[in-house]
This record gives sequence, C-alpha cells and structure tokens, in this order.
Amino acid sequence: MKILKLQTLRGPNYWSIRRHKLIVMRLDLEEVANTPSNQIPGFVDGLVRVLPSLYNHFCSLGHEGGFLTRLREGTYLGHVVEHVALELQELAGMPVGFGRTRETSTPGVYQVVYEYQVEEAGRYAGRAAVRLCQSIIDTGTYPQRELDQDLADLRELKAKASLGPSTEAIVREAEARNIPWFELSSRSIIQLGYGARSHRMQATLSDRSGILAVELAGDKEGAKRLLQDAGIPVPKGTVVRYMEDLPEAIEDIGGYPIVIKPLNGNHGRGITIDINSLEEAEEAFEIASSVSKSVIVERYHAGRDFRVLVVNGKVVAVAERVPAHVIGDGRSTIEELIEKTNQDPQRGDGHDNILTRIEVNHDTWTLLEKQGYTLNTVLQPGEICYLRATANLSTGGIAVDRTDEIHPENVWICQRAARIIGLDIAGIDVVSPDISQPLPKVGGVIVEVNAAPGFRMHTNPSQGIARNVAEPVLNMLFPPGTPCRIPIFAITGTNGKTTTTRLLAHICKQTGQTVGYTTTDGIYIGDYLVEKGDTTGPQSAQLILQDPTVEIAVLETARGGILRSGLGFDHCDVGVVLNVQADHLGLGDIDTVEQLADLKAVVVESAWPNGYAVLNADDPLVAGMARQVKAQVAYFSMNPHNPIIRQHIQQGGLAAVYENGYLSILKGDWTLRIEQAENVPITLGGRAGFMIANALAASLAAFAQGISIEHIRAALTTFRTSVEQTPGRMNLFDLGQFSVLVDYAHNPAGYEAIGEFVQKWPGQRIGVVGGPGDRRDQDLEQLGELSAKIFDWIIIKEDDDTRGRPRGDAAYWIERGVHHHSVQRQYDIIHDEVAAIQFALDRAPQGSLVVIFPAEVSRTIQLIHQHHQRLKGETSN
Ligand code: ATP
Ligand code: ATP
Ligand code: MG
Ligand code: MG
Repeated sequence: MKILKLQTLRGPNYWSIRRHKLIVMRLDLEEVANTPSNQIPGFVDGLVRVLPSLYNHFCSLGHEGGFLTRLREGTYLGHVVEHVALELQELAGMPVGFGRTRETSTPGVYQVVYEYQVEEAGRYAGRAAVRLCQSIIDTGTYPQRELDQDLADLRELKAKASLGPSTEAIVREAEARNIPWFELSSRSIIQLGYGARSHRMQATLSDRSGILAVELAGDKEGAKRLLQDAGIPVPKGTVVRYMEDLPEAIEDIGGYPIVIKPLNGNHGRGITIDINSLEEAEEAFEIASSVSKSVIVERYHAGRDFRVLVVNGKVVAVAERVPAHVIGDGRSTIEELIEKTNQDPQRGDGHDNILTRIEVNHDTWTLLEKQGYTLNTVLQPGEICYLRATANLSTGGIAVDRTDEIHPENVWICQRAARIIGLDIAGIDVVSPDISQPLPKVGGVIVEVNAAPGFRMHTNPSQGIARNVAEPVLNMLFPPGTPCRIPIFAITGTNGKTTTTRLLAHICKQTGQTVGYTTTDGIYIGDYLVEKGDTTGPQSAQLILQDPTVEIAVLETARGGILRSGLGFDHCDVGVVLNVQADHLGLGDIDTVEQLADLKAVVVESAWPNGYAVLNADDPLVAGMARQVKAQVAYFSMNPHNPIIRQHIQQGGLAAVYENGYLSILKGDWTLRIEQAENVPITLGGRAGFMIANALAASLAAFAQGISIEHIRAALTTFRTSVEQTPGRMNLFDLGQFSVLVDYAHNPAGYEAIGEFVQKWPGQRIGVVGGPGDRRDQDLEQLGELSAKIFDWIIIKEDDDTRGRPRGDAAYWIERGVHHHSVQRQYDIIHDEVAAIQFALDRAPQGSLVVIFPAEVSRTIQLIHQHHQRLKGETSN
C-alpha cells in the first residue's frame, strides 16, 4: 500500500456538511488491490490481536462487532485503514467516529476519509494505520512497542495542540453557543465571532480589559493603596529597597508576623509568609529581591486562601486553594508520598494540565525543617504535611470549590474591589479564616487583585462543583441578542462566479456598509484591493471573516478550495449556485458533472435553515440541489414560464426572472420589477444573456437577505463590465475601425455564452482562442469545435503556462476540434499569446469583432491600448 496524498479538511466539505475535521487519504492498495481482508492469510486474526478494541466499531452493520463481521466476510484494505486510523486516535484519547471509504476511477486507488480532533494527530494516525496494516499483511502482526510508540506520539501531538485550560473553557463555551472562533497567528489571541461583530481574548484577558486596570493590578502596592483608601480590608504594608530599612518597616506595620514578597511578582515566586524574626526576614528579603528590586513588607494574616472570580461586575466563582501537600498513611515516606501524588494523570507541568506536579524546592526544605522533618520522614496516617507555603496551583496546590459558601458581604467587597481596579475579569486573592464570615469580622483581607486570572481552579476543581466561568465571560462579550456574525454570501458555479460576486458586493455597498469580498482576481475590502491573486479558497474567506472592519462578506467559493480543505466558514446566510457545467473534470477524483454538482452543492448545503439557497432553475443539476438543502430556496431563471419557477411561486416562494425585458423579483403572486435589462450595462444592452442570468442571481441573493429593490436597482445601473470593475469579463473596446472583446471564457459553457452574444455581431468575427492545459483532451477539442461554430476566422494560441503539456499539444487538440466542425474554417496557429493577439489586431478588417480569450488579462488589455494609440496616430497623420 502507498499513500498518494493526505489532505486536511477544516470546514463543510464534499464528504460531510456537519463534520468539518476530516482527513482525506488517497491510498493506492498496490499488491492488495484485489485481495479483501478475509483472503489475506492471518490478517483478520492478526489485526484483532493487535487492536482488540476494534470490536467497538459498529460500522455499517450498526451494532458492536459490526466492523469485525465485515472484516471476516471480507472488506477492502482501504476500509480497514479507515477504521484503524479512527481507533488509533481513540486509543490516544481523541475519540472520533466518522469515516467513509470509496474507490476512485483509478482501479486499486481509494479515498479513505476519517475524522480527526487534532490535525497533526489525524495525519499521523493515517500514516500509522497504513504502517500497521502493512505490517500485519507482511508478518501477521505489529510489534507492541511500535504501537505504544504510535500512541505516545499521538498523545504528544494532542498535548502540543491544546490551547491551555482557560482558553479551552472559553472556546468550548463559544462552540456551545455557535459562536465561530479562530486562533490568530500571534500571541495566542483567540477571535470569537466574525468581522465587525467579533471580539478577542488572550487567555482570560478580553478586548474589554483596560490597559490602566491591567497595569494597576500588576502594581501590587499601588492597587493595595487604592483599595485601602476605599475602605477595603487589605494587609498593612510598606515597600523597602534596602535590607537596612527592614527593622523600621516591620515596626511601622505593627510588628510580626509578617510576609515579604517581591513588588512585581506572580505565581507565588519569591514569597515568604509567617515570618517571626529579623533573621528570617533578612533571608526572605534576599529571596524576594532576587525577583524584583523593591519588596513588599506586610502584615501576615493567618487564614485560608481563596480566589474569588469577578466577571463583568459579578462574583461568579469562589475556590479555596490548598497548598501542595501530602497525607500520611503510616508506612510511606514523604518522598514516596510525593511520588505517588505526582503519578495522578491529572498532574502535568506548569499550567498545561488540570493540576501541576509537586516539585521539591527550597520552600519545601524550609517548611520541612520548621517541622523537624526530612523527605525520609514517615507521616502518621491522616497527617497533613504542607510542601509549599503558598497555594498556587502552579506549584502543586489543589482547588476546592466554595462558590456557594461566600458571605454576601464578601461578595459585595470583592465586586467593589474589581470595579475600583477597573477590571472586567478579575481574580481576587483573599486570605481569611472563613469565607462564609464577613472579612472585617474575622480579620480577612484581600492580598491581591489579578488580571488574567486562570480559570482551571473553577472549571476543574479537585473537589466540589465545577463552574462554567466561561459562560459569564461570553455573556459579557455577546449579551443575549447581540449578533456574533456578519451576513455571509457564498457564490459558486462553473461560470460567472467572479462577475456575480463583484456585482453582489456592489449591491451590498449601496447599503453604506463595509463589504469584504473574495474573487479569482483578489481580496477586496470596501473599494480597495487587499491582496492580488486567485483568492477563492478558505484562507481568503477567513481573511475577510477575521477582519474587524468588515460588515458584510461576499465570497466567491471555487471548486478547488472546497475540495482541498472545505469551506472557510461553517454556515452562510445565502448560498448561490449559478450553474454546473463540464469543467475541471478528472481533477481531484471528480470525474462526472454529477460529482461536480455534489461538490458545488456544499455551498448551499451550508446555508442556515433560515437563510437562502439561490438556485438556477434553468440548470437541472442546480435546481435539483433544492432536495439537499436545509435553507429556504429561491430560484432564478431566464424564462418566466419555467415550470419550476411557476410551481415555486404558486407555493408562495421567492424567485427572480427575466420577463418582458425586465429583471424582476417574483414573490408569491407579486412581481417586483427591478430594472429593464437595457439599462443594466453589464448585459451590453440586454444582448449578453448570461450576464442577465448573473444579475438575476445577484439581485435575488441580495433581496433574500433583505436588501431593498432601490439599492439593487442603483447597483445594477451603475455596475459596468469595464476593465476596472470586471477585468476580463466581457470587456468591450471600440477601437474605431473595429471592436475587441476580452473575456476569460475557458470552458465550453463559457464559449457558448460568449458565442450567443458574438452571433449577433453584424461584421466579421475573429476569435483568439485557447484552453488551460490541465483540462482533458476532449475538453480542448470541444473548445475547438465551438470556436469553429462561433467565429469566421480563428487564431489558436496557448497559455504561457502549459500546465504539464508539451508546447503545442493543447493547440493540436483545439485544431482537431476546429477540423471536426468544419474543414473549411480559416485558422492560424500561433503558440505565443502576445504574438497571436498582435497578429489578430494587425489584420482585423473594418467593422469586425476580435474576441480574445486570454490567460493574461492585464497584459492583453495593455496590448489593446497600445494598438489603439497606434491606430489613432495613423488616422491623425
Ligand atoms: P499569584 O500570582 O498566584 O496570585 P503572587 O506571586 O501574585 O501569587 P500574592 O498573591 O501576593 O503573590 O501572594 C501569594 C499567596 O501568598 C497568597 O495567595 C497568600 O496565600 C499568601 N499571602 C500573600 N500575602 C499574604 C498576607 N499578607 N497574609 C497572609 N498570606 C499572604
Ligand atoms: P473562474 O472559474 O475562472 O473563477 P468564474 O466562475 O469566476 O470563473 P467569471 O470570471 O465571472 O467566472 O466569468 C468568466 C467567464 O465565464 C466570463 O467571462 C464568461 O465568458 C463566462 N460566463 C460568465 N457568466 C456565465 C454564465 N452565467 N454562464 C455561462 N458562462 C458565463
Ligand atoms: Mg496572588
Ligand atoms: Mg472567478
């Protein structure tokens, strides 16, 4: 077996609309192409021995053991690889279930599709699955140590991709609310929502957290002073820089016991608490001043450690933090107990797991010494031995939920404290003997207010109820009823996507909002080009959806991108399919127009149930998509008598048609006339039928989204097929003696559409034609036939990039097509596009129309301008 290709899908796709995270493996079964599982000696038993848990796979039989039955009855190896890839992920702690396997039109080559949770792990699992199966074919087994290594690698890939516990909680809550999210490329910033409606977070800092508040919280002494001024109980303290000043400072705050900590510290670093002598204080000073120049000397308040989380002015959770400790059993030494505690799989390094492993350090030694213990001491059963003075989770502490126990007065104090510091999300450190008693009554204090507090002690407490603290955060960013998305239009089809996208964007602009759109020519926001290039894939869509200035998105969504990685959005509001015509067949295992239709249908299938699928009623493959979509359907047609349209509007549906020279919306019994085709410049005075169709589609999509007829009309009458607005789409140049039409048509349907317009030209018709080299021979031949039908004289040229064909080969097939239609048709072959265009322009007779189908539009337009200048020069001489 050999993997030919591995693709990672990330959005709605050909295989599934709902399951976005899929790996598509193109697998050549090679030597086992014709051997099902039951005919490979020892394969089934070997596989079951290596992966007994495959028993849990239902497969198509729908019950436990279903897949094993299929194995024994005989199934192809592609299907086996699919199940193994799923099972390996499952065993590594990433449960996944969806899979499909299909043979391609190349015998022995399969598409194996399976779900993943983590991209890298998904790809790894596919390769490992092939390795595992191959090994069982060759040797009857797969060594246990190899399997263990695979699973260890998969777990590591999972850990590497994890977001951190606080961010994880936030994105899970976002997903539960259907809020889309992305990870931006720097500083672990998460964007929630689309475009102008989006918000950002970085761990638990929000885009609402003010810089003043965050800085103030970081300045422990300054923050404490403000709280003290407001009458909030805080430990009495002062700041010192030199050790000589210690005795005076200690006296100032009222004597021992005291705490010494760095002025700018966090995670409990450099803190010594419960100091009772100058000697200890001097040692603590050394430790603290190694973290920050100035140190805080303050009163020690005996008590337990609480963290109060305040979000948007409300206390939402309270946790008690218990310092790292072990509990004796009468047999084990402290060292053994620590080791045992650290074996808990919930304990990891730093902040990346629910709990953190306990490390023995200076702090531990000091504490043990104070109690007269060493690491070899055996503790009494039930005896608690603290290994850290402070309760930070990051030094091995645990958390106990106390949300239901906090006294209302303490709630009030903490909420006030958060407001005084000015933080939208604040973690307040309270030391008090009892959180259920008012702080002033029991001598409790607020020792610190933290910006960006960690959530894991609340979402994953070791004891007590887990609190979904991400919920209030998202309620703050997106109060109920506030949209988190912008309207998305997605346009697909074989021909006319770019034109329709540009026209629809132009309609949307009439509303005064900022429109972001993607096309084959580039990405645009408002009136400006962001990036040039063929930008019709998911990454371009995401650029628009991430942009905080964009209020409406109009996305040309081409076949290639859907196939490569799925849609760049989970749902659109209005999906448009213009047509499905033969083009690109044979690429990416899409061999028939029906498969092509299924691929393009992904766009309308992704439309929200209360959104719209705008479909071409004149194209049976497109009209048929109505059966697959969840959204409401709206049809457009060049023929007001089209039976699908008639039936649809009888049922009160929405449609757009070309009737009596007008582009009109039909809404149930009502006809709303938008404009006469004659006044819509892109239709070239109503002569370009396919442009009328594109305009109907754009108008209908806009109307379905609630844009007014007035705005649509204003857009239709001001949108031109000029080089500026639609380069390469029906750009007509009048050079005085003759005219030139530049158009991107590159497939039979495109040629036919242009042909319909060209037929109406009164003078001689000259075609400069070619076709992309990556199309099939028969497609190029058909372009030749159509050219012979449309033009009186043909100049066959090739693209600069032959896309894998030898120079002259594409021209050869086109020439064959020309011959096929008519042996008398006049034609020339000039491979070089520039030379071919020059040749035609130099020889075009008076009153003729030269139609150029270029690969390079801007270069072509330049050639035409140059020629025009020359002609003008000649006539004026
Ligand atoms: P973190 O980053 O975890 O919040 P930090 O380095 O910012 O820690 P503080 O929050 O000031 O430091 O102190 C850490 C812990 O030390 C407190 O949670 C508390 O347990 C203890 N502590 C600090 N100051 C006092 C005090 N005045 N009295 C009693 N305990 C204190
Ligand atoms: P691409 O696949 O290159 O991105 P596209 O779908 O974006 O193409 P446009 O660039 O809008 O299509 O148009 C390309 C050419 O297709 C046009 O210049 C015209 O020749 C032809 N065309 C446009 N609209 C239609 C249509 N509705 N039906 C058939 N042909 C069309
Ligand atoms: Mg703290
Ligand atoms: Mg395009």
